[in-house]
Amino acid sequence: MPVLKAYLAIGSNLGSRYLNLKKAVLLLEKYGKIKVIRCSPLYETEPVGKVKQGFFLNGVVEIKTALKPLQLLAVCKEVEKKMKRKKTVKWGPRVIDLDIILYGGRVIKVKGLTVPHKEMSKREFVLKPLVDLNGKGRHPVVKKSFSKLLKEIKGEKTVKKYGKRI
Ligand code: AMP
Repeated sequence: MPVLKAYLAIGSNLGSRYLNLKKAVLLLEKYGKIKVIRCSPLYETEPVGKVKQGFFLNGVVEIKTALKPLQLLAVCKEVEKKMKRKKTVKWGPRVIDLDIILYGGRVIKVKGLTVPHKEMSKREFVLKPLVDLNGKGRHPVVKKSFSKLLKEIKGEKTVKKYGKRI
């Protein structure tokens, strides 16, 4: 089974945000077949959308995995479930959010999973930590580097570096 590099976006804006992120990373590894290679610096970020809620703590995790895309998604959902994430409104507050932003250089569009993640090129809170890890990497659909995509964003939302790393 091939082992591929993938990137996950992680975020939390409920409870102990930093500890939530740390726990999610530990749980991901515990499932096996996922090796966490590096975690990006974290950013404190203003929520997107109309729901009034607290700032998020966001980061990106570089992993190596032998799991297929849908298996990896299932593990992400399992971790969210384990951490008692409740189904809330779209773009509402959450204990933990885990998204697959990139899976190798692959483009995937199946029911329930789109990779690269649909919103990633619009979101500074995803691109900033991703650029910290891999600025020269290229988006496999729009064919631009992540650094270039980050420069193209208007930056209407606050995204500021957080003191601690995972
Ligand atoms: P969310 O509310 O952000 O956790 O995402 C809701 C749904 O988005 C999930 O149940 C997934 O089936 C779907 N989804 C589609 N593409 C992705 C992706 N790249 N990573 C994570 N979830 C995804």
